[in-house]
Amino acid sequence: MPSEELLRLEGITKRFGSVEVLRGLDLSVLKGEFITLLGPSGCGKTTTLRIIAGLEEPDAGRVFLAGQDVTGLAPHRRDVNMVFQNYALFPHMSVEQNIAYSLKLKKKPRAEIREAVKGALALVQLSDYEKRRPRELSGGQRQRVALARALVSRPKVLLLDEPLGALDLQLRRRMQVELKGLQRRLGITFIYITHDQEEALTMSDRIAVMRGGRFEQTGSSECVYERPETSYVARFVGGANVIEGGVLSVEENSVLFEHAAGRGRASYSGAGNLCPGQRVTVVIRGENLELSAAAASGEFSAAEGLSAVITGRSFAGGQLRITLALKGGGEEISASRAGFDSLLQNGGEVFITWKSEHAIIVDQTKNNREET
Ligand code: ATP
Repeated sequence: MPSEELLRLEGITKRFGSVEVLRGLDLSVLKGEFITLLGPSGCGKTTTLRIIAGLEEPDAGRVFLAGQDVTGLAPHRRDVNMVFQNYALFPHMSVEQNIAYSLKLKKKPRAEIREAVKGALALVQLSDYEKRRPRELSGGQRQRVALARALVSRPKVLLLDEPLGALDLQLRRRMQVELKGLQRRLGITFIYITHDQEEALTMSDRIAVMRGGRFEQTGSSECVYERPETSYVARFVGGANVIEGGVLSVEENSVLFEHAAGRGRASYSGAGNLCPGQRVTVVIRGENLELSAAAASGEFSAAEGLSAVITGRSFAGGQLRITLALKGGGEEISASRAGFDSLLQNGGEVFITWKSEHAIIVDQTKNNREET
């Protein structure tokens, strides 16, 4: 496991006109790490990469690379390269010339350039394509050339801005595996941007979830998926259900809360000092919800669980996805299960239950603030 810090952002702030698009970003990236910036359009992902690359200057804050302050350093003087979604290849140059370009600018000896280009092409499995022009390549091959061009100078950090965004789903999945394999083999630090949370979860060692120019939560894929700290992260990573309720009682490892649709239990570690009467926001993933058809109304009134009505069903990828409206209102929630289930029909009444360890209390700081 890598442990040495390679890149550090300290208090990075950036304004375009009167709009503050980055609001004091702090981030530490380790050597050999694959970290993904995940967030909706406009949250500042590209601007962050451009600042790391030196293509944009921050209004405040510092960028450190291998312990050196590189904030004011020109892009070509940083050991950093960038790969763009639209490849940005020179159309009039061959694959070989595209890849050799940066080394020629650095006036490297011809033999060294040839070797480096050969090596880079072998890395991306395009050894026989040296003489082709970009227009004679498929989208996937162009992206590999762009990757070879970025890797040829063996940067310490590779910045990838939605590099697979233009590829169809099948090719995208294949390139994800290739890219991850390449990163592991070369041990280069990758800072990756994607909109696609599934891509982020499969590829990254760590994910930094961004919201409005800030990092909302940074952690391993498992951590942001299993233990989101806010409802925003829970919704954005994996589309979890968010249920609001009022605390009824606080026990050693759990909290009982009430909602107009019934009662539910969420795991609770004691952090946050919850008290009866306080509002809580609970997130539960759809795959962790159990649904049972409610035969007669009132049957479950004493049990823990929520009553709901099925509002929609769709079947995709071997999974039945069900949307539900909780009785008494609130956000629509969704559940999934493997295979069809004829008991679960549109308009049907169901009782929803879950194991308390799958229900997580989020937004604690926000809720505490609202209480006081
Ligand atoms: P996307 O996923 O759509 O690429 P992003 O998260 O990468 O979005 P950025 O491209 O970093 O977002 O942009 C953040 C904000 O800054 C946006 O509101 C954008 O319109 C604005 N912005 C970016 N570059 C400039 C610029 N050169 N001049 C003015 N505003 C800009």
